[in-house]
Amino acid sequence: MARARLNSGNAAEEELPKAKINRQSLQNLIKLLSYLRPYRVKFGLGFFFLLLSSISSLAFPAAMGKLIDAATGTLSEGILDNINSIAIALMAILLVQAVFSFFRILWFVEVAEKTLADIRKATYAKLITLPMRFFAQRRVGELNSRISADLSQIQDSITTTLAEIIRQIVVFIGGTIALSLVSGKLTLMMLSILPVLVVVAVVFGRFIRKLSRQAQDKLADSNTIVEETLQGIANVKAFVNEAYEVIRYKRSIDEVVKLALRGAKYRGAFASFIIFCLFGSIVAVVWYGSNLVSQGLITVGGLTTFILYATFVGAAMGSFAELYAQLQKTVGATERVIELLNEDNEAITLTETRTIKNKISGTIDFQGVGFYYPSRKEVQVLNDVSFKANAGERVAVVGPSGAGKSTIASLILRFYEPTQGTLLFDGIPSDAYNLNDIRNQVAIVPQDVLLFGGSILENIQYGKTDATEAEVIQAAQRANAHEFITGFPEGYSTLVGERGIKLSGGQRQRIAIARALLKDPAILILDEATSSLDSESERLVQEALEELMKNRTSIIIAHRLSTIREADRIVVIDKGKVLESGTHAQLIAQENGLYKYLSELQLEG
Ligand code: ATP
Repeated sequence: MARARLNSGNAAEEELPKAKINRQSLQNLIKLLSYLRPYRVKFGLGFFFLLLSSISSLAFPAAMGKLIDAATGTLSEGILDNINSIAIALMAILLVQAVFSFFRILWFVEVAEKTLADIRKATYAKLITLPMRFFAQRRVGELNSRISADLSQIQDSITTTLAEIIRQIVVFIGGTIALSLVSGKLTLMMLSILPVLVVVAVVFGRFIRKLSRQAQDKLADSNTIVEETLQGIANVKAFVNEAYEVIRYKRSIDEVVKLALRGAKYRGAFASFIIFCLFGSIVAVVWYGSNLVSQGLITVGGLTTFILYATFVGAAMGSFAELYAQLQKTVGATERVIELLNEDNEAITLTETRTIKNKISGTIDFQGVGFYYPSRKEVQVLNDVSFKANAGERVAVVGPSGAGKSTIASLILRFYEPTQGTLLFDGIPSDAYNLNDIRNQVAIVPQDVLLFGGSILENIQYGKTDATEAEVIQAAQRANAHEFITGFPEGYSTLVGERGIKLSGGQRQRIAIARALLKDPAILILDEATSSLDSESERLVQEALEELMKNRTSIIIAHRLSTIREADRIVVIDKGKVLESGTHAQLIAQENGLYKYLSELQLEG
């Protein structure tokens, strides 16, 4: 499943959807182009050089024609009237063009790189400060592709597409004017056939590309079969499904062949069309032109000039379709990026220093809290939840799966705000606090500890990014992690994650505990791991947790009731409502209580 998503993500990168070009989309484009402003001087210069190099390219066919006329002695008197001077002029044109192009590309690329770097940074800073509800409704792959594929598309547009559009327009207009100056008759003759051919070629070409894309997609599908079955080879063999998979693969490959063969027919037809019609039309123009030459109405050089201009104009016409498609893709990419940039941030301040303005002692008070997730408004996840944890107390939250325990943790972290009632910290409503202040004073040790790709040291430092190595080691010692870390040959520099070693569940948890110890929060949330560790590992983790819970308010989301007997209070919730609350002794004494029932159930297990 994950792989299928990944694949579709790649496909999205290759083939970005196009969008309609209208007033709104152009406004978006202009908004994004405002990022160009700091580099506008260079951009303007690049633009100017682009115009100059496009215009100077138009002098090339004229000079070539003159060169031939000079050779055949049909050149009329003028400044450039001999082969050598014309050749020098031609070289000069090329030189000028080469210089213009160099600076045009240099500046355009520089501007595009810098602009895109700014947009990338802004997009990422926006993305990472968006509220949790945003991420609950989007797929990571989709967001990833905005930062990579969409922005690359925009970058390409600034460096290449924009330049190409300008150049081709200049060449098209200038070329057509030059053509009519060389020979009005020939121009009329050419314009009566060329556009039709170009349109047919473009439409035909697109159709063929669509067919070959279908075949490629199908091939990718069949590759997925290979990949999946090889990765899950044990499953295939255990179910004796070899024959089934072979047939499935064969069917998929047959589809590819069918599609490819269908494409082959059209591809052949396309080649014939190009050879016969397009080259045929060139023959027709040359034939007509030769007639004009033999009648003395045009020189050989003039005909050469004409054919060169005609090639320029034809190529420009042919490129418009592709350029327009590129523009549509860019507009689509722009829309998606602007949409992201227009989202509302969380009220988080981006600062590296973790100074806390309002220190809290850690009293948490849920007063009639009701909550539903923004993505599922019809499901009331919490209903009139009230309980209190005084500073320094340990409060356990228990209940069946889906009762709303993790949701309570999310509210304490202020990932979401209650939809009814109030959550108070030290007796003051949560929303009166700065968001940074609350999150800087709450730490969570989650069920599944996610470590980043760096070293163990960096992973622990994540709890306090400016912590010294000595502080990290001290935290690791208190978290019962120092011993296993120093057991690795590279100690704290050991890389975790893909290239590094794999850590066991218990080891990962102790790293998370060290992280939380470094952060030294007033409030601690422990989301107890559901999978049990072996007893030695369990003891080490439990000891580390005891150390961590000292002197702070702890909210323990417990799955195993044996670990929370000592809690100051146990809150039992079911279907988002508080059913019971009290100490272990009080709750166990309640006849027909849910806690008593769950305890007995676990005891039996
Ligand atoms: P467990 O013990 O299985 O972890 P829990 O008690 O922690 O369960 P929650 O994760 O708080 O339960 O979920 C409570 C309810 O809210 C569930 O019905 C769940 O489907 C729903 N829920 C959780 N997260 C979201 C979300 N991001 N968007 C919509 N609904 C959600």
